Amino acid sequence: MVALALTLGACQAGNSPAPSAPEGPLTVVTTTTVFADLVQQVGGDRVLVTSLVPKNGDVHTFAPRPADIQAVAQAKLLVMNGLGLDDWLERTITNASASGTPLIQLGVDLTGVELLPGEEAGTQNPHLWMDVRYAELYVDRIATALKSADPANSAQYDAQATAYKQRLDALDASVRSKIATIPEANRKLVTFHDAFPYYARAYGITIVGVAVEAPGQDPGAAYTAQLITAIKDAHVKAIFSESQFPTKLVDQLAAETGARIVSDLYDDALGDQVDSYEAVIAWDTDQLVNALK
Ligand SMILES: [Zn+2]
Repeated sequence: MVALALTLGACQAGNSPAPSAPEGPLTVVTTTTVFADLVQQVGGDRVLVTSLVPKNGDVHTFAPRPADIQAVAQAKLLVMNGLGLDDWLERTITNASASGTPLIQLGVDLTGVELLPGEEAGTQNPHLWMDVRYAELYVDRIATALKSADPANSAQYDAQATAYKQRLDALDASVRSKIATIPEANRKLVTFHDAFPYYARAYGITIVGVAVEAPGQDPGAAYTAQLITAIKDAHVKAIFSESQFPTKLVDQLAAETGARIVSDLYDDALGDQVDSYEAVIAWDTDQLVNALK
């Protein structure tokens, strides 16, 4: 296998002045399963995509293992979000000596995006893809990166990105019409971590609070007490948790406020009930509508 590859490479170098396109699928490594799906939709059979954080995993507190360093070392394209979601990839790249591999940050410096503040002063909330229109900007950036890494298949990437964005347009419209069935006074959201502000802004929902200021950190008693007051004052009907997080704190909030718990929203990771980005958005929307209307 190795000898064959060497022979082919030598042959091409001798006969053709221009560098040739990769023969097999392009190896792409992403930080999360959601981004892996976006790359898969645009890349189709031209890409071999791996996510470092597994499905149901927590990207915020992820620690790369030796196998992840190896995967990064073999990647031809690296895909992360940036904005503090998955900064550990940059350390992994250093450890894998993969500093020459193209790296795209899907959420950074996107034209037409208005960033919302993060939990800590001076930071931005990284969960842009939860607004389907912003996910379409991620798709554009992925298409550009795939064409640059594999120009021979540019037409295929363009066609697949266009078809995918048409489906996302339809998804965006369906979220809007489903949310419209929730009485306006009930369009209030409490989640475990702060993954929904872009979704909320896009689709007309108010975020009353989040159970933890940052994943992996226990909130203080004063923070939780304030949140309980806010939930009661706003008459929030349901508190949503996400499948990758523990439910103890959300259980406490529900017990003290009388709100019901919906324990399986998805945002940062695909999971048992959702195997694509489109399924994440459709599932979450259905859960919200069922609990709030
Ligand atoms: Zn998150």
